[in-house]
Amino acid sequence: MTDNQSRNGARGGGWREWLGLTPPASPAPANAAHSPPHELTQRDIWLPAKRRLLGQVTDFLIDHDLEILPFTLAVGYDCVTGGSPRLVQKIHERAEKGLPITLKWLEDTNATQSRDATAEAVAVLVGKLESSLSDFGRTMAGVRDANDTYSVALEGHVTELQNARSGDDLLARLTQLTRHMLEHTRGVERDLAKSDARITELQTRLDEARRLANQDHLTGLPNRRAFDEILDRELRDARAANETLCIAFCDIDHFKRINDCHGHPAGDRVIRYIAETLGRIADARCHVARHGGEEFAVLLRATSMADSWARLDAARAEIAAKRLINRATDTPFGQITFSGGIADALAYPTKSGALKAADEALYAAKQAGRNCIVIAEAEPAAD
Ligand code: GH3
Ligand code: MG
Ligand code: MG
Repeated sequence: MTDNQSRNGARGGGWREWLGLTPPASPAPANAAHSPPHELTQRDIWLPAKRRLLGQVTDFLIDHDLEILPFTLAVGYDCVTGGSPRLVQKIHERAEKGLPITLKWLEDTNATQSRDATAEAVAVLVGKLESSLSDFGRTMAGVRDANDTYSVALEGHVTELQNARSGDDLLARLTQLTRHMLEHTRGVERDLAKSDARITELQTRLDEARRLANQDHLTGLPNRRAFDEILDRELRDARAANETLCIAFCDIDHFKRINDCHGHPAGDRVIRYIAETLGRIADARCHVARHGGEEFAVLLRATSMADSWARLDAARAEIAAKRLINRATDTPFGQITFSGGIADALAYPTKSGALKAADEALYAAKQAGRNCIVIAEAEPAAD
């Protein structure tokens, strides 16, 4: 076998077979043994792979009964190529729950993800700027110290030179030069003071940018990105302090109906109302975040499972007891409720295990008829 043959995997199919390039099972011509090997072009190589990729995108659209649109084609492409692993995960989760993958759902999910990605990019940029700014601040402090020392030394020299008894021209010129240097260092000092003020202003703006990158635009609650950071911190701190940590997901019941009957802006107002009510249980040891769409995440530190459940259930009962009216149309919203799933965040070996447990408990609450909070069954923690 030649080098070329072995590279092409002639023996046993190899990658040619993987790409679908194995010849059709037709009888070999009599002179096959002597015919020159078929010269493969780039097109020969990639055509079957391209066909297969297009086939997978088509299957995705047909399986989910989606229209053929640039957006759905792009989503299908991302899903089959792994270009958007988060979206694929969400699609799997939704399919597991037996819920349809509709165009509307894809658009909403995509919009949320783009917002998350933008917030993530802004947060990374802010982090980099903050670190450069603090390096710059340190350098400036060093320059300032050096300038101060230099200026004090020059002042000393001027005094010494003035005290030196001599009408010497050289000494006079030295004194003048040193005075000039002293004025110069004072100028540098003034410029440094201005730079200091600018650094402080920039720092304030960066703090504001960081706050915005961590905040959900609709409700003002921490967004999913910020929640991930808080969760990491709380898991670490709770373990170190040997304190409990409960994690919960709350999801508005039949929210789609609210949007369908009252419109998206009214739906937004309902989300804000739930956020406000849930947000009221937040304190130094309880964090409430908008995890996406009409779903909220809650973390309760140093609070027993029973107390955590009771706090969430009180918020649930308060909301369920209200009868809200759509101000824009004067029509009642009817009863608005949410369901919740709560888990002991430290009872699972990994963070994703804890998140999954809370999500499954939420799903159990939905299955149980909604408007209730279900506690996840704890798994024994790994060593
Ligand atoms: P379930 O009780 O099973 O949770 O049913 P549901 O209708 O609440 O669940 P589903 O996930 O089918 O629908 C959630 C809807 O929330 C779909 C989406 O259009 C809507 N949604 C997501 N984000 C927003 C938002 O920011 N504003 C508004 N108004 N609607 C949103
Ligand atoms: Mg819902
Ligand atoms: Mg939901």
